[in-house]
Amino acid sequence: EPFCLITVSSGIGNKVFRGGEVLLDADGHGGELGHWVCDPSPEAPLCDCGGRGHLGAIASGRGVLAAVRRAALADPAGFARSRLAARCAGRVPGIDNPAIAAAVREGDAFTTQVLRGTVTPLAQAIGAVFTSIGVCRYVVMGGFALAVGERYRELLVGELVRLGCFGLDAEAVDAMVSLGRPDDDHGLIGVGRLLADRLARAGAR
Ligand SMILES: [Zn+2]
Repeated sequence: EPFCLITVSSGIGNKVFRGGEVLLDADGHGGELGHWVCDPSPEAPLCDCGGRGHLGAIASGRGVLAAVRRAALADPAGFARSRLAARCAGRVPGIDNPAIAAAVREGDAFTTQVLRGTVTPLAQAIGAVFTSIGVCRYVVMGGFALAVGERYRELLVGELVRLGCFGLDAEAVDAMVSLGRPDDDHGLIGVGRLLADRLARAGAR
């Protein structure tokens, strides 16, 4: 079954797999959804690559951290009442990704609202991949998304349902997104299986 792997960690990456192959062109283009421009405004956040408004600058763990700090400075009272503030002694510079992930897992409304805002462009990107090539399975992994866990998946599905995936009902959208296992092994296991499959095909030839 074709699937799209999405990593949400310090940056954002993706790859689409179909029929045991990674879909890239001969020059290696593809799998760079993190550098898709989702905010064209001149003051959009800077990406690690030097570009502005890229998905990875907004929806990655780094992007979420920056957004939460901006929100805390813009709404000091709301921040002060949040569980996030309790986790970082009420200090904006003390906010970090583990505190953000924990606050969202605990249901903190302030932090969840900011995270939802950063998940929206990721949902738009997934919607575009789905509507263009019809891949119906999205596996989300990466340190930040997996630290938040099931709540991250719920927020992403919520935004996908709100925006709509053409031709799919809410139940189908929910079934489309899953979390990867929270370990460091799945990438290596995947490489091993892909290589074993290719060697077997080469041997058959
Ligand atoms: Zn970039």
